[in-house]
Amino acid sequence: MAEIRSPRLLMEECHRYTVQLSELRKLLEERLHAARSELARAGESYDGPPSVARTRPSAARVRQARLEVAAIEAALERMERGLYGTCIRCEALLPLDRLRLAPHLQECAVCAGETRMTA
Ligand SMILES: [Zn+2]
Repeated sequence: MAEIRSPRLLMEECHRYTVQLSELRKLLEERLHAARSELARAGESYDGPPSVARTRPSAARVRQARLEVAAIEAALERMERGLYGTCIRCEALLPLDRLRLAPHLQECAVCAGETRMTA
């Protein structure tokens, strides 16, 4: 039988969730800004074609930053749609401590195929 909770408790839970979400959104936006700055330093726009500037960071770094921008934008979009914080494959809730470390995360540990956990 499903647990029936009082509206007051649900409201409190909802409020807590909203606070956590805005905290994670801030983290996402900070990281998005950092990744975009990196791409700007690399002499290319984040959605433009790759350029062959001479003074840019290493190609691997740029590739990483581009992936990060894409992942963060996807996460922010999921936030807009109210889907943020759940696994895109199995819809499991993603643990908050994991989201704090990697707010753009969109898969649970099982679906991401993580077999080892660092202690
Ligand atoms: Zn999953």
